[in-house]
Amino acid sequence: MDFSLTDEQKIMVDMLSTFSKNELLPNYNKADKEQKFPYEQWKKMAEIGMTGINIPEEYGGQDADSLTTGLVMEELSKGDFNCAGALLIEVLIVDVLKRCANDTIKSEWLPAVADGSKVLALVITEPGCGTDAGAIQCRAVKKGDKYILNGEKSSASLIMAADATVVFAKTDPKAGAKGITGFLVPMDLPGITRRAYEDLGMRGVVRGSVFLDDVEIPEEYIIGSEGGAFKELMQTFDFSRMLLGLMCLGAARITIEETIQYAKERNAFGQPISKFEGVAFPIAEHYSINEAMRRLAYYSLWLRDQGLPHGKEGSMCKWMCPQYSVRAIHDCLILHGHYGYTNEFPIEQRLRDVIGIEIGDGTPQAAKIVISRGLFGRGFF
Ligand SMILES: Cc1cc2nc3c(=O)[nH]c(=O)nc-3n(C[C@H](O)[C@H](O)[C@H](O)COP(=O)(O)OP(=O)(O)OC[C@H]3O[C@@H](n4cnc5c(N)ncnc54)[C@H](O)[C@@H]3O)c2cc1C
Repeated sequence: MDFSLTDEQKIMVDMLSTFSKNELLPNYNKADKEQKFPYEQWKKMAEIGMTGINIPEEYGGQDADSLTTGLVMEELSKGDFNCAGALLIEVLIVDVLKRCANDTIKSEWLPAVADGSKVLALVITEPGCGTDAGAIQCRAVKKGDKYILNGEKSSASLIMAADATVVFAKTDPKAGAKGITGFLVPMDLPGITRRAYEDLGMRGVVRGSVFLDDVEIPEEYIIGSEGGAFKELMQTFDFSRMLLGLMCLGAARITIEETIQYAKERNAFGQPISKFEGVAFPIAEHYSINEAMRRLAYYSLWLRDQGLPHGKEGSMCKWMCPQYSVRAIHDCLILHGHYGYTNEFPIEQRLRDVIGIEIGDGTPQAAKIVISRGLFGRGFF
């Protein structure tokens, strides 16, 4: 077993660690306060090649493997969880487009994502269903060489900043999950409106609803095959779940490290509070858990890079990493006393932000359904 990173990965991690500290962290609360997409930071991320991290070189990207992409997520989230979250969504959509879109779509959109000039969203969720994604109602009806889309999609991250969004719609309502098709929908088409949400956290990820009213999509804007969205597009979610896990672990890790420093500097009863077991032990526990989960996430990404099955592992990352990261950040907030509760420290925002990932891309229950199916076999769960 070899747990070491390659020289290129080590250089990337070092560079991003400095970038996160100097460029992202000082502005972390800006997008949160303004509830706006962090355009300035996004531009800087594009300049160092991050917005094209998993885009093939021929389209202007870096074509990084899964593990390297995970390391990028982990480092960026230490500086700005929203910037990492926005990148995660682009990585997910790029993976979908790479595998399932035709050359016209790829050459039109991938270079623009790589250079940071365009932002894409992806939406499956609707007002009536999220976990039960097969129950979506949004309709796409074929008319000549176009599809006419109607429906309401909800909870779309980045939708308020998006130039286009991948929409899941029913082309054959009688076929259940096998009647769902993915479309790339440019947001400037007639018949599209959007509504922004006011969220607890991840406010820079500008979530919202999108309403489709007789929106005409050319048939070449289908992603994958008609009726194939569940089978073809959703494979990418195994990947995004591991990346989300590492994002949460990165936010927890930097918070734990900040808390170690704080506990050495803050005195009570004539000594640094680090000398109290009540302070040191929770930090020791959270650091241990964080380290164990990082190994799980790296291993899961490694499985993907080897072309080995990784669905169960992705879901293990999805429920555990956000939940234990929330617990770690919460405990670190308490260890900062009343200061932790103010926005003078980034901890309260990290707590609000990371909670979003307990739900986004599937709840813990949804993840445990996937794991249970893997463990018991489909006939037994
Ligand atoms: C920050 C954030 C970002 C998001 N970004 C996106 C996005 O970009 N695109 C997008 O399409 N969606 C997005 N979502 C939506 C997210 O994927 C859904 O919220 C999630 O899948 C859950 O769906 P729901 O909210 O409809 O809850 P429901 O499916 O209604 O579930 C409600 C509760 O019931 C539980 N439950 C449901 N079914 C079962 C079951 N079979 N067994 C046990 N428990 C069950 C759930 O776990 C949950 O606790 C985002 C959500 C958040 C919070």
